[in-house]
Amino acid sequence: MKKFLPDFSFPKGMELLHNPLLNKGTAFTADERKQLQLEGLLPPFVMTQEEQKIKVLASVRVQTTDLDKYIYLTSLQDRNEALFYRLVIDEIEEFMPIIYTPTVGQACQEYGHIFRRPRGLYISSNDKGSIKKILRNWPQKNVDVIVVTDGERILGLGDLGADGMGIPVGKLSLYTICAGIHPERTLPITIDVGTNNEELLQDPLYIGLRQKRDIGDQYDSLLDEFMDATAQIFPNVLVQFEDFANRNAQRLLAKYRNNYCTFNDDIQGTASVVLGGLLSAMCIIKSSLDKQRILFCGAGSAAIGIADILCREMIHCGVDKKIARKNLFLFDSSGLLTVDREDLSEANLKYAQQVDIETNFSAAVKKLKPTIVIGVSGVGGVFEEKMVRNMTQENDRPIIFALSNPTTKSECTAEQAYSWSEGRAIFASGSPFDTVRLKGKTYHPGQGNNAYVFPGVGLGIVASGATRVTDEMFRAAAHALADMMEYKNLEKGTLYPALPEIRNVSKRIALAVALEVYNSDLGSQPRPENLKQHIEEIMYSPHYESYV
Ligand code: NAD
Repeated sequence: MKKFLPDFSFPKGMELLHNPLLNKGTAFTADERKQLQLEGLLPPFVMTQEEQKIKVLASVRVQTTDLDKYIYLTSLQDRNEALFYRLVIDEIEEFMPIIYTPTVGQACQEYGHIFRRPRGLYISSNDKGSIKKILRNWPQKNVDVIVVTDGERILGLGDLGADGMGIPVGKLSLYTICAGIHPERTLPITIDVGTNNEELLQDPLYIGLRQKRDIGDQYDSLLDEFMDATAQIFPNVLVQFEDFANRNAQRLLAKYRNNYCTFNDDIQGTASVVLGGLLSAMCIIKSSLDKQRILFCGAGSAAIGIADILCREMIHCGVDKKIARKNLFLFDSSGLLTVDREDLSEANLKYAQQVDIETNFSAAVKKLKPTIVIGVSGVGGVFEEKMVRNMTQENDRPIIFALSNPTTKSECTAEQAYSWSEGRAIFASGSPFDTVRLKGKTYHPGQGNNAYVFPGVGLGIVASGATRVTDEMFRAAAHALADMMEYKNLEKGTLYPALPEIRNVSKRIALAVALEVYNSDLGSQPRPENLKQHIEEIMYSPHYESYV
């Protein structure tokens, strides 16, 4: 165990107890209490971390609502990060849905009202010209991963402005929980350019700027300054874009990806986790992606990202690009993407098909006879009973992904998918659903949670010092994810590994990504002799270190 030799700069006394990255509360030993001026500041009994965990577990479980649990866990994170991470890693199935979707959605909707202590950096339109100065205010000088949002499309909940900060905070906690990125080296950022959400603008407790969103040059120049300042203050940092509106998400990714180490999780992370799930589904139905007809409900950031990676995968397997695209059909709020439509963006145009216009999704399913439907519309309940029954008539095992978040926005529930398909659906969702009992059989819905992918990708990038993030890295991650699935779980219809396995999943993904980094000559650090061991060694583990 690493020994610290407390010097003049090492916090002591009350300052140490108020530093969440170093605080151990009642677990400071007698020696530490003596040498770090803690005597008298703590009750005499010295607890182990395990005893502290039992205590906080009981305290969080007596909270009556999920939002109260979120607030309790946030305050624990604010006073003792190691204990927070110990608890959440050990009880991941119970707490992942609290610190991330679905509860984080509710937390963002009420962020101004539950706001207690700031976490992360807020950069607003008023800070133009001073972003470097603001980044220097961050107490840590070495940052590995930034997650940034402008709050315009929080989950499927729309524009939540500065209240969207819950998302970068939650995603970075997942980096630590799932892949052991050190919490000290993570930085959540919200770029506040205003909000078009009238309710928030009228709310006296709203934490953001009281103005409509900046757009056009004003918006773009702020983002440009942010990216440039970030690269200067934190060289080698990975910047993850999160929950930007579609019109900015694609555009900014294209603009920055060749000049900075950056990716968009809604586009590339989603794509990878869905490809991983579909590769597992192909093992179940003993077929291949090029033999599928895939219909998307939604044609935004997530849909385009998934369609692109599916094409990439098929092309890699020798399928011609035109043929790969031919089996992908996208449907948005105005209907099927067809060549006759004049309202399509460049990203959408490449998936426009030579078919008749259709504005009803269930009718599109009937006409196109897809083997797979993927819901990324942000519209709850849009997969109707007749649609699922129709798919079941055409397919032995209809593959249904209802990915919209939070749970209320899911295109259908797990129970609906299984009952309407007589238990034949291979189902995955974005937010978690409980197992379903149907006619004496138990079904285990998969959660196509991006947390299976982005933390491992980030770890691989940090481990290799990658200078850029490529789509090939996300394809490698999807394969590593699918390779983790055991046959006995696939047989049960489960598409993703169990959550308690997630740190192992992240390690495997990190290795696959780091190998891809070195193969494409994008690593800034010499390749370690034993890459796997190197990845394991840099992972943070939330045990207490001895300070004396
Ligand atoms: P987006 O705003 O970029 O795209 C939404 C798309 O849905 C648009 O094309 C819109 O036209 C279409 N749409 C709206 N109403 C529709 C309707 N009634 N029928 C069909 N299409 C309709 O959003 P996005 O980033 O693509 O995300 C969409 C949803 O997917 C969100 O709810 C998000 O939480 C979810 N998502 C889930 C995961 C995951 O679970 N792994 C990952 C990313 C996004």
